[in-house]
Amino acid sequence: MQDIIIVGGSFAGLAAAMQLGRARRRVTVLDTGLNRNRYAQEAHNILGHDGTPPGDILAAARAQVGAYPTVTLRAGRAERVTGEPDAFTVTTAEGETIEGRRLILSYGIVDEFPPIPGFAESWGKTVIHCPFCHGYEVAGRPWGLLYSSPMSLHGPALYSNWTDEISLILDGHTIPEAERHKLEKRKVRIFDGKLAAIDQADGVIRSVTLEDGTKVPLAALYAHPRNRPSANLHAQLGLDMKDTPTGTMVVVDEMGATSRPGVFAAGDLAMAMHSVTFSTNAGSLAAMGALQSMMV
Ligand SMILES: Cc1cc2nc3c(=O)[nH]c(=O)nc-3n(C[C@H](O)[C@H](O)[C@H](O)COP(=O)(O)OP(=O)(O)OC[C@H]3O[C@@H](n4cnc5c(N)ncnc54)[C@H](O)[C@@H]3O)c2cc1C
Repeated sequence: MQDIIIVGGSFAGLAAAMQLGRARRRVTVLDTGLNRNRYAQEAHNILGHDGTPPGDILAAARAQVGAYPTVTLRAGRAERVTGEPDAFTVTTAEGETIEGRRLILSYGIVDEFPPIPGFAESWGKTVIHCPFCHGYEVAGRPWGLLYSSPMSLHGPALYSNWTDEISLILDGHTIPEAERHKLEKRKVRIFDGKLAAIDQADGVIRSVTLEDGTKVPLAALYAHPRNRPSANLHAQLGLDMKDTPTGTMVVVDEMGATSRPGVFAAGDLAMAMHSVTFSTNAGSLAAMGALQSMMV
C-alpha cells in the first residue's frame, strides 16, 4: 500500500513527490512523459532555470526526486481509478494495479491544435500562448493575436509591454464596436478575415495568410487553442469541474483538495493560469494537503 499515488510526473507531480519523499512517505508517480511545454526549445521565467530546455529541467527533477528511497517513479499510463480514502486503486494501461491511501492528480492538459497549415509545426516556437514565457525573445517585432474568445480583447494591452506592432486576427468573429474603437486607439491593426495558413519554416513564422489572400507579416502569433484534460480519472471520480476561457479545470481549494475526500489535484489540470512555477507551487501545496489529511 502506497501513502500517495501521483498521476502525472511532470512539474506539478514531481514537486508533490519531492515534498512527500522528504517527509519519508511511500509515493508512486505514474507518468507518460508528455509534459505540455515539450514543444518549446527553452523554458523561461523559471527561477534558476531561465532558458533551460524543459526536458532538462524534468530530467534533473526526476533524478533528484527518484533518489528518495520511498519514492517510486514509474513510466506508464493510469487508465482507471476506484476507491475511497485509505483504499484507492489505480490501474495502468498494462493492467497493473497500485493501491494508495491518497491520490494526487497532476496529469495536465492537452492543447487541441486547429487544422490550420503551419500551426502544429510552429507551436511552442513562434506560435505561442504566453508572452511571459516566450515574449522577450521576440520583443519589438510584429506580433499577431488570433482571436479565440472575448478574453482575447485584453491581449493587446498586455502585449504592449513587449511591442507596439500588434495585429488582431479576428478569424471571422465579430467584436463590439466599442472594443474595436478602443483597440484602434491603441494602434492595433484589426483583420476580420479567417486565418487560412501560417507561413513558416522549421517553426519560424514569417507571415499569416487570410482566406481572402491578405498576408500579414509576423514574428510571433499568440494563440489560445481549446484544451482538455490529458486523462479522464477526474470524471471517473466524479470531481467538480469548472470552465476556463479555453477548457475546463478540476475545482480545488488552496491546498489542492478536490470535491472528493482523499483526492487532490495540481498543476494545469486544476488552474486557469498556467506556468511551470504555478504548477510546482500547486504540486507542493497538494502534497502538504494530502499529508495533512493523513495525519488526522
Ligand atoms: C508550448 C508551451 C510552452 C510553454 N512554455 C513555458 C515556459 O517557458 N515557462 C513556463 O513557466 N511555462 C510554460 N508553459 C506552461 C507549462 O508547460 C505548464 O504550465 C506546465 O507544463 C504544467 O505542468 P503540469 O505538471 O501541470 O502538467 P504537464 O507538464 O503537462 O505534465 C503532465 C504530465 O502527466 C502525464 N500524464 C498525462 N496523462 C497521464 C496518465 N493518464 N497517466 C500517467 N501520466 C499521465 C503527461 O505525460 C505529463 O508528463 C508552456 C506551455 C506550452 C503549451
